[in-house]
Amino acid sequence: MPDIVVAGAGLAGLVAAAEATDRGARVVVHEKGDRPGGSMLLSSGVIWRHRELDDFLRECPGGDPKLQRLVHDRLDDDLAWLEQQGARVTERSTGNPRTTGVRFDTRSLTETLAGQAGEIRLGDPLREVPERGPVVLATGGFQANTELVRELITPEADALFLRATPWSTGDGLALGRAAGASTTAGLDELYGRNMPAPPARITESQFVPLAQLYGHQAVIEDAEGERYEPQTWSEIDVVQWTARRPGARATYRVSEERLGEQIRGRTIGEMVTAAERAGGPVRRTSGWVDVDVVAGITTTLGGLAANTEARVAPGVYAAGCDVGGISTGGYSSGLAAALVLGRIAARSALDGR
Ligand SMILES: Cc1cc2nc3c(=O)[nH]c(=O)nc-3n(C[C@H](O)[C@H](O)[C@H](O)COP(=O)(O)OP(=O)(O)OC[C@H]3O[C@@H](n4cnc5c(N)ncnc54)[C@H](O)[C@@H]3O)c2cc1C
Repeated sequence: MPDIVVAGAGLAGLVAAAEATDRGARVVVHEKGDRPGGSMLLSSGVIWRHRELDDFLRECPGGDPKLQRLVHDRLDDDLAWLEQQGARVTERSTGNPRTTGVRFDTRSLTETLAGQAGEIRLGDPLREVPERGPVVLATGGFQANTELVRELITPEADALFLRATPWSTGDGLALGRAAGASTTAGLDELYGRNMPAPPARITESQFVPLAQLYGHQAVIEDAEGERYEPQTWSEIDVVQWTARRPGARATYRVSEERLGEQIRGRTIGEMVTAAERAGGPVRRTSGWVDVDVVAGITTTLGGLAANTEARVAPGVYAAGCDVGGISTGGYSSGLAAALVLGRIAARSALDGR
């Protein structure tokens, strides 16, 4: 009998398992996919927080301030712990003055944590909460469940581009609810990026480089001529708006004069050329470039309601994108929430809190 069962070998699950193993527990990790790492492996690997707690609270106004404070206050120590485990840091800055954090090599992060996570059973999803013994739900949200996304987030769910692994279909949400957990506000919210529209071919390794991140520099319009002005620095509102427009599509019209402008280490021109090379619809006409984009869903933001011990029901704990109430109404680092709550979930599960 394991001391603790973990569902999901993405960041939250691996962190919980490594923490529990470190405390001498026998851990079994169920992983639905054919490899560990979840969407974390495909990510940019930047684990960050707002520099100021007040900015976090203001930018994510629908979240639970107790959980937000926890992530904010614990992150720096948890980043140091992660580095001590042996995960390789590639950058000690986020490149964004509002935030602070560290970029990890996601392959090294996965290998390091998987090596310390106890027994990992690949291709073996957790289907029910074990009767005896604590469980940590860390299945990564429900973005790959088109029906649930249609029901809760957008009628255009079929048209969304899945910018994540295909395995996060809401199992943690269902298991938690069946065990008596309640859900948070913001079940209709998603995090993602606008991506080159079909017929672009986008493989997993292109999820990051093909993101079109110049909404602030473009005129954004949908097929019906409705325009949208970005409200946030992260452009999360732009992708949420696009996801609800016909075909989950929009067009970015950008002046050729702006193609040299740098955004987070890349020029707009480079992002446009990348879209063009992938086969996305790009039209160049007298001084303007039009790029058709489709909303790419990366994670859902609503989820199970956890307390500050990461408990969602008796004997049931959750971490990562299975937990809501952190980014609600805005955007914060999903990796940071997974790291902090993953460690807390393991400790609470072992201590029976
Ligand atoms: C392209 C891209 C770039 C990103 N960049 C960043 C970034 O720079 N910074 C940041 O903070 N966030 C980023 N993210 C988001 C980040 O990856 C997620 O927030 C994070 O991975 C969430 O961790 P998690 O453990 O909840 O989910 P995951 O890491 O996705 O892990 C969930 C795991 O659960 C497994 N699973 C599902 N159902 C079951 C089941 N029933 N039983 C067992 N296992 C199951 C899945 O297969 C998966 O392995 C990015 C994501 C992508 C795709």
